[in-house]
Amino acid sequence: MEETTDITAVSQNFENKSMPEDISKSCNDHPRQSKLSSYPSNFQNRSFQSSWFVNRNWLEYSVKNDRIYCFNCRHFRSYKTNIGDAFTTCGYNNWKRALESGSGLHKHEQSQAHVITTKNLESFKLRQQLQLSVINSLDNSRSILVRRNRDRLIKISSTLLLLAKQMIAF
Ligand SMILES: [Zn+2]
Repeated sequence: MEETTDITAVSQNFENKSMPEDISKSCNDHPRQSKLSSYPSNFQNRSFQSSWFVNRNWLEYSVKNDRIYCFNCRHFRSYKTNIGDAFTTCGYNNWKRALESGSGLHKHEQSQAHVITTKNLESFKLRQQLQLSVINSLDNSRSILVRRNRDRLIKISSTLLLLAKQMIAF
């Protein structure tokens, strides 16, 4: 839980102004996984593949600069985590090595920094759900109270009405 402190502040502090506009901007955003029918090929005739998004919720692709980024590491880094690699800074685009073991995507998702930020993201989501359920249960108990008070008021009003009628009768 220690790693999750000041996530919002960290996210704002680390937010790189040079990030392309077509990827997520904050931890409340969703990872942008733009699926195109084809992606630009580089000088080695290699390109990004949309199949790389499968089972990688963290992966973001910027159409604007044809590079990939890590959502988790960009928004959920803590002060203890290293500044990061291409996935958190300038964007990764070495398509030839992207799927090699010990390189590219695998290297990034197995890095300690990424494992920590993924845990941070999970606890952030958990806290959001918890807050939501607390708000819902508060709402529920408030509406029960309102209904109960309304019922009481109706009973009191009808008693008063009855008394008033009796008084009139006297
Ligand atoms: Zn990452």
